[in-house]
Amino acid sequence: MLLRDVLLLDSSMESALACDLAISGSVIDSILPPRSAEGPADFDGKGAVAVLPGFVNAHAHAAMTLLRGLGEEAPLMEWLRERIWPVEARLTPEQVFWGTRLALLEMVSSGVTCFADMYFFMDQVAEASLQAGVRCALSRGLVGADEGKIQEGVDLIRRYHNLSGLISVQLGPHAIYTVPPEAFREICRTAKDSGVGIHTHWLETEWEAEYIRQQLKKDPVDLLAEVGLHEVPFAILAHGVWFPEDRVRDLAKTRLSVVHNPNSNLKLGSGIAPLPSFLEANVRVALGTDGAASNNRLDVWDEMRTCSLLHKGIRRDPSIVRALEVLRMATVDGARALGFENVGLLKPGWQADLVLVDLQKPHYVGTTPENLCASLVYSGSSADVAGTIVAGEWLYREGVHLKLEEETILRKAAACRKELLQE
Ligand SMILES: [Zn+2]
Repeated sequence: MLLRDVLLLDSSMESALACDLAISGSVIDSILPPRSAEGPADFDGKGAVAVLPGFVNAHAHAAMTLLRGLGEEAPLMEWLRERIWPVEARLTPEQVFWGTRLALLEMVSSGVTCFADMYFFMDQVAEASLQAGVRCALSRGLVGADEGKIQEGVDLIRRYHNLSGLISVQLGPHAIYTVPPEAFREICRTAKDSGVGIHTHWLETEWEAEYIRQQLKKDPVDLLAEVGLHEVPFAILAHGVWFPEDRVRDLAKTRLSVVHNPNSNLKLGSGIAPLPSFLEANVRVALGTDGAASNNRLDVWDEMRTCSLLHKGIRRDPSIVRALEVLRMATVDGARALGFENVGLLKPGWQADLVLVDLQKPHYVGTTPENLCASLVYSGSSADVAGTIVAGEWLYREGVHLKLEEETILRKAAACRKELLQE
């Protein structure tokens, strides 16, 4: 496959590069001077289309699209206990399948090529992702100390881990306030023995930080080691909002990554994570949307813009959380956080997971190769996505989904929601 005359940009480049991009199978083959490649092109950008690594949504609960709008404006613990959990207890595998496909429509059209999902009925999530051709890191959300559920997580590893190169599986203890420390330790031990990562929520709310200190009588940073999170191959810590500033360095040079979910944290009134401190300490940070019931979008562009602006305002410093750092969080550091190798940069031999962005829009007049990254982060939006490619395969092109039947999914998902909420 050949993409002719496009502007290439990844987070290792200060300036975009005009080029022809050749893809062979699932990987990037070569990067050539613009209009120099021989043979017919699959796509001609005419110098006005940017090609970036696809976005990684590193923390999601995809099928929560069916719960979007539930418990609006309630704080997290009330929102979970009174509005979300009772409905989730009624979810069926079929509903999770269609809810996930609904999420995939939204993610693929906004340039997401990879996502981390923690939910239930993960076989359905795996099948939905495989059919859509989207890269996915799956974990069955584990609550309580139920051995049977840990076994479900282990079965998922056996069935789907590394399947077709698109899927990886983690174990997913929901959080330290829903999984007792001893059970959490057991899950980490199982992950270590199985050679897989962990995906969990950590320090999302002040209530959780207090729960750890008062009820568990532990320090929330020391507890990471006590439950075994430093011993697993890698761990995805969603949120980290209440991570103490003076302990941020403890995360540097570890196999733990923090997923920053600024819009979900703002909407639930949970607080604002110390992102500038994480970045200063070289802690790996990825970006996520969280579920559609707490965001309510599944749009990584929106997370990029929010996080880049939010922390500048709080610190009163426009030089921090730079556009290039934000792009790194949304792409290669997201992929690394999820344990995917050779994903997230535009280099020969790396996976051809790409998003194409149409620069023929009013808000891109004046965009140059030198300012493209800032232009995308501060001016761009998901409405500019002209194409999405995963492992060398087109999933979305000029407004049309090629692997998802949009009309059927909208109809089925609406019916599932009606049935679920008894609306
Ligand atoms: Zn979450």
